[in-house]
Amino acid sequence: MERNRVLGGILGVVIGDALGLPVQFESREQRRRRPVRGMEGWGVFNMPPGSISDDGSLTLCLAESICEAGLNPQDAAERFLRWYQEGHWTPLGYAYDIGGSTARAMERLRRGIPAVEAGPAGENDNGNGSLMRILPAALYLAKADVKDLAQVIWDMSRITHGHPRACSACYIYALLARELLTGMSPDEAYHRLCSQPDVILRPGIDAKERPHFQRILAGNLEQLPESEIRSSGYVVDTLEAAIWCLLKYNDFSSTLLAAVNMGDDTDTVGAVTGGLAGIVYGREGIPDEWLEVLIKGDEIMELANRFVDVICGEHS
Ligand SMILES: [Mg+2]
Repeated sequence: MERNRVLGGILGVVIGDALGLPVQFESREQRRRRPVRGMEGWGVFNMPPGSISDDGSLTLCLAESICEAGLNPQDAAERFLRWYQEGHWTPLGYAYDIGGSTARAMERLRRGIPAVEAGPAGENDNGNGSLMRILPAALYLAKADVKDLAQVIWDMSRITHGHPRACSACYIYALLARELLTGMSPDEAYHRLCSQPDVILRPGIDAKERPHFQRILAGNLEQLPESEIRSSGYVVDTLEAAIWCLLKYNDFSSTLLAAVNMGDDTDTVGAVTGGLAGIVYGREGIPDEWLEVLIKGDEIMELANRFVDVICGEHS
């Protein structure tokens, strides 16, 4: 597997989060009037430029967990709890921008509920809070059997988001990431995803939830106008927005800026889009001037490289 793509994927999540954070919850109309063109700062959480939020922090927690414990939801959950309680992998030493389902999951973990049962699983728990941090597991399992992929992706989602819709969204994202890792273009990878036989899709997409993914799996998402694409925190909206941006643009910067300039849940749409675009365009597709402003950038880069060594082998 190409190191450059795996590294790009992890860094893409982090960069997308940091790009979108300063304008989180602002409208598309506001972005039209004043588009984001690069790394800004401040905004709703008053964080300096280059700050990651929950998306980046939890992705790094999962990557670190995989480096040290393999695929182990309990170990991952303990690191998520360290993020929540102690600010593990946060820019300034404390967690912030914590989603509702995630906060409830953290309280349940704290009470000793097992990781794979911790995530709330109601219809209203279908935010994008597990999708935004699932990529390291998808990268680790890129060559695994789809049944194993589905099982692990669902378990990793369930730490914070247990509803079958959120888990199914993570699985679709993981399938697309694995196509992209082979070097296919976004267009080829997306159309391959949509033409997969049922034996590939069924293990990870709950049958009752499938209608919710109809617009994605129909294979023509890119034909929808931007006005039809919502960029909210609802997991299906976020996944649609990320894939749409990936299909519409041809380099890392314009893909990510388009994602962020859709407005609304900009940091997470940025992070989810960034993971895919990072795989496609690789580490060198990400502008250096964006990476240079990341807070704790050296530590993030070191972990990302360690993760790549685990995935690809140290000497590949
Ligand atoms: Mg966030």
